[in-house]
Amino acid sequence: MSTALMVSDLSVAVDNKQILDGFSLEVPFGEVHAIMGPNGSGKSTLCHVLTGKPGYQVKGSASLNGDDLFSLDVDERARLGLLQSFQYPTQVAGVKLREFMMEAAEEMGLGTAEAATRIETESERFGMGPFLDRSVNADLSGGEKKKSEIFQMAVLRPKVALLDEIDSGLDIDAVKQVSEAVEAMRSPDLAVVMITHYSRILRYLSVDRIHVMIDGRLVDSGGSELAEELESGGYEGLRKRLGIEKVLEDGPMRKPADFFTETPFDV
Ligand code: ADP
Ligand code: MG
Repeated sequence: MSTALMVSDLSVAVDNKQILDGFSLEVPFGEVHAIMGPNGSGKSTLCHVLTGKPGYQVKGSASLNGDDLFSLDVDERARLGLLQSFQYPTQVAGVKLREFMMEAAEEMGLGTAEAATRIETESERFGMGPFLDRSVNADLSGGEKKKSEIFQMAVLRPKVALLDEIDSGLDIDAVKQVSEAVEAMRSPDLAVVMITHYSRILRYLSVDRIHVMIDGRLVDSGGSELAEELESGGYEGLRKRLGIEKVLEDGPMRKPADFFTETPFDV
């Protein structure tokens, strides 16, 4: 199968602070890959750098379907087919979801008729009909917001979808719903990178490969056995198996909450 997303030897720093260090990843079309890692390991930074958020010192390369990403600006990357869902979707007061999607679809070069058809079809598939004529994300529950994000992706049909913590803050029923929505998005023309702190979502969603990121480095890749290992032993257990010392100084800065969420299991 051909490669959708290729990241090679990516190193990223902010104000000379190293966040990603020699990170490489290859995701073929048609596959769903999970990237797991403790808080502060650099998962969101990876998304930001790939989508083109400014302010990072970037070394290495990344390509989408063979096209170099780092030579393109944010809009060009999106039009090429790279979309990111947000960890904390924002409300857009006064703009209805349907209008918002029509505009986004136009930006991506879709005609009005095609955009309207896709909005109808996908809103039916993801149960978003009742939300189309409400303001974007206004008064939606956490789970509904994440489902809305997946609906939006289904309309825009990216080649590579980066889902950053699509499962965070959701109750167990919502996690199941979101997993089903990600599963429904599977297509031979799409690669999904699902970033998550917890292995919980992997009980409902079968992914093709799991990658673990610690301190800005990809430290292990594997199948479902890796999720099971994390579920029982946490990142601490994996560190021990791989002989990775905890970096206390000059490493990623840890928030107080990180010390309470070292295990990826949270039910
Ligand atoms: P994750 O998403 O895995 O929790 P992040 O990518 O958000 O991790 O952050 C990785 C590390 O980089 C953290 O220690 C964070 O504090 C640091 N970091 C991220 N962005 C910046 C920035 N703009 N300036 C300084 N440090 C940053
Ligand atoms: Mg993050």
